[in-house]
Formats: sequence, C-alpha cells, structure tokens
Amino acid sequence: MNDRSSTTQGHTNQVIVVGAGVAGLGAALYLSRSGWRVTLIERDATPMPTDPDSAFAWDRRGAPQVRHSHALLGRIHNLIRDDHPDVLRDLLGEGATEIRFTDLMPPTLDDPTPAPGDEDLVMLACRRTTFEWVLRRTVAREGRVGIRTGSGVAALTLGPRSDGLPPPVTGVVLEDGTELGAEVVVVANGRRSELPEWLRRVGLPPGSEETEDTGIVYHSRFYRLNPGREFPTSDRPIAGDLTYLKYGVFWGDNRTFSLTLAVPQDDRTLRALRDPEVFDAAASLLPAPAEWIDGRAIPITGVHSMAGLINRRRRFVHDGMPVALGLHAIGDATLCTNPLYGRGCSLGFWQARLLADALAGNPDPVGAARALEEATRKNLDPWYEASVQSDRAARAALERQVDPRDGTEDDPALFMRSVIREGLQPASRTHAVVWRSFIRLLNLLSTPDALMAPEVAGPILTAWQERTEREPDAALGPERGDFLASLGLTSTD
Ligand SMILES: Cc1cc2nc3c(=O)[nH]c(=O)nc-3n(C[C@H](O)[C@H](O)[C@H](O)COP(=O)(O)OP(=O)(O)OC[C@H]3O[C@@H](n4cnc5c(N)ncnc54)[C@H](O)[C@@H]3O)c2cc1C
Repeated sequence: MNDRSSTTQGHTNQVIVVGAGVAGLGAALYLSRSGWRVTLIERDATPMPTDPDSAFAWDRRGAPQVRHSHALLGRIHNLIRDDHPDVLRDLLGEGATEIRFTDLMPPTLDDPTPAPGDEDLVMLACRRTTFEWVLRRTVAREGRVGIRTGSGVAALTLGPRSDGLPPPVTGVVLEDGTELGAEVVVVANGRRSELPEWLRRVGLPPGSEETEDTGIVYHSRFYRLNPGREFPTSDRPIAGDLTYLKYGVFWGDNRTFSLTLAVPQDDRTLRALRDPEVFDAAASLLPAPAEWIDGRAIPITGVHSMAGLINRRRRFVHDGMPVALGLHAIGDATLCTNPLYGRGCSLGFWQARLLADALAGNPDPVGAARALEEATRKNLDPWYEASVQSDRAARAALERQVDPRDGTEDDPALFMRSVIREGLQPASRTHAVVWRSFIRLLNLLSTPDALMAPEVAGPILTAWQERTEREPDAALGPERGDFLASLGLTSTD
C-alpha cells in the first residue's frame, strides 16, 4: 500500500471511521498505516479492558453478537498474518491459538503429502471479544488514530455540489452536537447501520438494499476447560446440520470454547434452549458437543440468544456514481451474511483492506468509490450470494423434509444440498484435492465456484452417484422427535 502522507498535496488526509467493530477497526488500522489521520467514533462508552477475561465482560451493546461464537476463518487470519504481523503476535500473546487444518487432515485421504498453500489453511481460535480488544488496543497505539467513544454519529454533513457530481461529504455530527470534519467518511457501524436514514435526511438517495431473513435463532454458551483437561482430539465433525437444528463447536482463546445451537425461529418448542440446563442436556445428545462438555469443562456464561439474523446487501454506488463523494460503507453496514457460515468478520476486514487499496490508488473520490465497488462485487458479493443460496436450500430441506440421499433434482437448491452432503463430504474424506478445495472454500480462500473445477467436481459427482451403494454416514444427532423426547419437551408446533 502507498503511504499517503507523502503523496497527497492538497488533501487533509483526515478520515472519520464510524463504528469500532471488526470492519471499523480494520479500516482504522489499514488507513492509519497508509498515511491517513483517522478519527474512530464508537457509540459504546465502556472502558477499555485490560485482559482477555475483562474483555469478555466488556459491555458492547452496540455489537451484541460479541457474546456469540465466532469462527475467525483463514481469510481474516491470513490478512492479519500478512499485513499486520504485530497484531497476530499480540493475539497469540494474549492466548489466541492457530488451528492448522493440516493437523486435522482425515487419515483416509489418498495423498497425505503436504502441498503448496497448506500454510494458508489456518483459523484463529479466539473469542470475538479478545480479538476486538487486541485490535482496538493496537489501533489506539497508532500515532495517527484518535478514538472517541460515548457519542455516536447522528448525521452526515455535505458540501456543495459542483460539476454535476454528487455532493462531497465534509464530516459528521455527533449525537452530542459536536461537528467533526473529514475528507473521507467510512461508515462501519454494523448490521443496524442508520446510513440509509442519514442519506435520506440530507436529501440524498438512500442506496439500494436486498434482504433475506435467515429464519434462524442463535443460542450460544461459553465454557472453559478444567485444569489438567484438554480439548477432545477425536475426528468427530464439530459441526452438524440436522435440518431442525444446526450446531457447532468453536475453539476460543485461553482454554475457552463455545457451543452454538441454531434453530428455526418459528420452532417454539426449541425456544426452551434458552435455559442453560436444557441447552447442556441438548448439547449432550449431539456427538461432538457431548464430548466437549463431558465433565472436562465448566460453563462460564449462561445461554445467549439472538434472533433477527439476516442476509443483506446494500449499495451506495449506482451506475458508477457514489451517492456522496468521499463516503464509503464497509462491513455489515453494506454486506451482512448468515452467521452460521462464519464469514462476517473476514468479509468486513477484507473490505477494509480493499478500501485502503481503493483510496491509495485513486486520489479522486469517484475513482475511489468505483474501485471499492468493483473490488467488493468481485471478491465479496459471491460470498453473499453463496450464503443466500445455502439458506434457500436449508429452508427447502426444512419445508420438504427430504433425505439428501434422494437427490431431489427438481429443486436446484435441494439438489446442491444433496451433492454437498452425499458427494462433497465423502469425497473430501478420500481425495486430497477435494479436501484442500473444500477447506480453502470454507476459509474464503477461493471463490464459491472453486468446487466446479473438473479435478474437484469429478470425484464429488462420482461419490454422489455412488451414494446409495454406501452405508449412510453416522448420524450427526437424533431425529427431532427423539431429541424432544430425550429433553422431556412436548412439541407445540
Ligand atoms: C450471532 C452472530 C454470530 C456471528 N458469528 C460469526 C462468526 O462465527 N464469524 C464471523 O466472521 N462473523 C460472525 N458474525 C458476523 C460478525 O459478527 C459481523 O460480520 C461483524 O461484527 C461485522 O463487523 P462490523 O464492524 O461491520 O460491525 P459490528 O461489529 O457490529 O460493529 C459496529 C459498531 O458500530 C457501532 N455503532 C453503531 N452505530 C453507531 C453510530 N451511529 N456511531 C458510532 N458507532 C456506532 C456499534 O456500537 C459497533 O461497535 C456473527 C454475527 C452474529 C449476529
């Protein structure tokens, strides 16, 4: 990246970043390190934690999802490793660990030899609060960043239009009435972003928006290993999709981990999972989670529940023209995806990097907006679209209750789900090339269509065609009726 401080005469080099979540912190980091002077504005006013455990108790009501499991995929791990190695060092120093997928390679693969690119197959095991705290601490120490907390942004300010262009953004007004000026405003204020409303109030078009409800509710609980005990090492899948319930185990930092049980939001019976006793009893009925809470760990939280989870794409550049010059939106404020796929932090941090590149390569605001828009469409949109497609398949499976072994070729979404379950999953246990491709895809290190490459698609389709000749895979959990009965719940749906 260019160092802007030495290249841009006539510019103030002042940028305001709205929101100190993962995308806003990423923007502050990238932009300050490429020469911008950054004011980072965060509405939450709670004091900076001093260690991972106080960070876990951090009052972050502006980003309530921090209380839920977070997978920090290869994409965000590698961006930090390559662009900000000091941050990775600090994270590891505070108790985060790296999960290397090559250590988890199925022993049944046809070729166990290492391959180029394996060094990228790494996730970060870290609670979201620890991650955000270390990132905020780094940003606070950057000479070019000032952080203001406690009063959020309430409005944008604009300058006059000229040459038939949209008006330039000139800064923001805070909720306490303070006005701050800047050449660039980066809106990174999350899934509840008020940006469309701010635009409407200053007479600008609010951008465009498409939304698809995920239809799920998240229930998460955190645990810590007891002294002398370790994480399970069995090769049981740590995530499962039982159609009526999806679950996952997430490694954290400092010997913590979390379990998430996600259920359809209209399943009234399974609202009982909000009760910690029911939650643990339910997790004990699921093969991998049961192993993680078999007495080796104690809960360190109650059950956190969160609904209103959406896929949403917003655009603020139309026909190559931004709604306002110098205004950029990143992170959940522009692209929000179903948390089940663990993509949001990676996408937000990645977009922060793309923003820094767009600004570095384009001194004129229209060029910068176009460059970011183009990079977003190319790199991030396919993941949004993949999330929407997977959710449609999950909904169709729930409605039609079909067995993935049936194939269901009349419905493209169900067909793809069948190919993933009965083709991709078995082939990734036997073919090294499929396994690598699958792990790269899970970690946002390829494009969603990477499985279509002939050397990957071939073994997948063969495994799918042979699905009825194989013994079915071991069940990842009980049928709903048995699950409810074991929990002493009576279906009210
Ligand atoms: C239940 C759940 C589980 C998830 N699990 C994962 C996962 O496993 N892996 C993953 O990568 N992603 C996951 N995500 C997604 C991830 O949390 C988001 O994509 C990510 O937080 C987006 O970062 P952001 O900076 O855009 O927004 P946020 O992190 O939400 O931050 C926005 C910030 O803006 C502040 N703010 C809001 N309005 C204003 C204002 N007017 N002025 C000043 N500040 C303001 C808020 O207080 C907040 O701090 C999950 C999301 C949810 C809901």
